[in-house]
Amino acid sequence: MGSSANLKLRAQIGLVSGLLMSAFFFYFDITQPLGVAAGIAYVAVVAVGLVAQSRWLVAGFGMLGTTLTIAGFFVSHPETNVSASIILLNRGLSVFALLTITITGYVLIKRQERFDTRLIELASTDALTGLLNRRTLMTEAERRIEEARRYGQSLSVLMLDIDDFKSINDEHGHLAGDKVLSDVANVAARCCRRTDYLGRYGGEEFMLVCPGVDAQEAGVLAERIRSATEALQTSGQHSGRSVTVSIGVAEMIRPDETIRDLIGAADRCLYKAKDSGKNCVVIESKNDAPRLESLP
Ligand code: GH3
Ligand code: MG
Ligand code: MG
Repeated sequence: MGSSANLKLRAQIGLVSGLLMSAFFFYFDITQPLGVAAGIAYVAVVAVGLVAQSRWLVAGFGMLGTTLTIAGFFVSHPETNVSASIILLNRGLSVFALLTITITGYVLIKRQERFDTRLIELASTDALTGLLNRRTLMTEAERRIEEARRYGQSLSVLMLDIDDFKSINDEHGHLAGDKVLSDVANVAARCCRRTDYLGRYGGEEFMLVCPGVDAQEAGVLAERIRSATEALQTSGQHSGRSVTVSIGVAEMIRPDETIRDLIGAADRCLYKAKDSGKNCVVIESKNDAPRLESLP
């Protein structure tokens, strides 16, 4: 079970147990002449929300506890020897304690959520280009291949390499090279669909996984990325210098193919593109199948 499913289950268990506890405390409050200390019990209900790590449960139980504490004042029948002002003061203090723990808990959980989101973002993206990093890209690629296999859908992989990138570094410095890398990443990202997975595979190499896309459609996409990169108006130290990319395209053709097979096939096309003079797209021909890597 995934971590989000775990959180959902925890929140559901928390909701049910918190409501049962609230109902019990309220019943106790109105049937027993408790009076002075009734409201403080609802702090335990807010704690259930904290354990479930749900700020909505914390807020909801805090509000519910406050309402029931106030309602208890009107409907409970405390012993007559306790003065109304003492009961009021104690219930007021209970409400204060409840609201304090509710607000503190809500803020802490919200802060933790923001921290978790940032951590996931940092762990899954490439710092320079903002694209998926290699680990996340491979994980996503394996999942999409599994889905394509199960539902009989097509899937294509594109390997993209910046041409003569070393000379940009050598002539204009690594910072200029970094700028080119992020510019090319932006161009490629703009050409992709929301359902595509684009990431930085290595130094100046990018990989694109396109679920539901066959080799022909992937070739059109690759050509769009190639021409958009060529048209890129470079700025900064390397201004005026044209940047081009070569792209290899391979489609999943056998159900038992792995991501390694597809990368290998797209890579072979990429090398053909480099050999053909760079700044071009090579699509794997159907005649190249079956791929050797998959065979015993
Ligand atoms: P080809 O057209 O055949 O692809 O040649 P190339 O020069 O692009 O390829 P090569 O493999 O010779 O050089 C890749 C260079 O990419 C070498 C490496 O220093 C540089 N590089 C790798 N990662 C980074 C990075 O994060 N920033 C910068 N500025 N350069 C990088
Ligand atoms: Mg390279
Ligand atoms: Mg290169």
